[in-house]
Amino acid sequence: MTQILSGKNALVTGASRGIGRGIALELARQGANVAFTYLSSPDKAAELEQELSAMGVKAKGFRSDASDFKAAEDLVTEVVTTFGTLDIVVNNAGITRDNLLMRMSEEQFDEVIRTNLKSVFNVTKACQKPMLKQRNGSIINITSIVGIKGNAGQANYAASKAGIIGFTKSVALELGSRNIRCNAVAPGFIETEMTAVLDPATVQTWRDQIPMKRGGTALDIAQSVVFLASDWSSYITGQVIQVNGGLLT
Ligand code: NAP
Repeated sequence: MTQILSGKNALVTGASRGIGRGIALELARQGANVAFTYLSSPDKAAELEQELSAMGVKAKGFRSDASDFKAAEDLVTEVVTTFGTLDIVVNNAGITRDNLLMRMSEEQFDEVIRTNLKSVFNVTKACQKPMLKQRNGSIINITSIVGIKGNAGQANYAASKAGIIGFTKSVALELGSRNIRCNAVAPGFIETEMTAVLDPATVQTWRDQIPMKRGGTALDIAQSVVFLASDWSSYITGQVIQVNGGLLT
């Protein structure tokens, strides 16, 4: 079978669990070498590194806080030193600190903006240098349905994810002439550890509202990321692809 990412080098932030892990595995399945980051799950990261290596690609996990500007610069330098080039960047690391605005603390707001939005600036800014040199690159930012339609109890998260969309479109305009593409994927309700903390009744209500009558999987998101990472999408930039089972049309 043809592997559409054969020979490409990818970096995925926040891949120790959930959607990021699914993306890393699918990129490798399509032949890409995979560098990935994690923050607080070293055992899961070591497991993933082994799993990826067993698929016959080069793989390495880096403990790196995506919200830290200097750490992101150092990370990209290390990745380029280890892998040679950097063709694909997936900004996936993200957190939630949900609360109604009435109860939301300044810290809850700042933490979510730093981890979800500033991280995208940090890593994209760092990877633009090697990509400009190569005159080639695909950057994929994981936003959310919540960044498009808002969600009560998630003003901080919605602001961070809407910010990612504006950032993505601007970067696409700035870097298009250098053959560097920048797109976003907006997952709907994807069943991962992030959503496992919700009570089962809430989860069932979500499923019932989805036209396709199921929550999404990490693989559903990973396959759209593979498409945007590959040359099959070589004329697509500045777009937000919604992967949500029809939840928002
Ligand atoms: P998850 O299961 O909670 O996993 C989050 C990942 O991000 C973990 O690997 C975690 O690493 C990493 N991470 C968190 N903070 C980090 C930081 N500062 N630096 C580096 N890595 C960090 O979440 P998920 O559900 O897979 O979500 C992944 C992305 O999809 C997020 O951006 C989320 O907003 C978005 N999304 C999810 C859904 C959904 O329904 N699940 C819907 C829409 C959008 P450690 O464990 O090592 O700390």
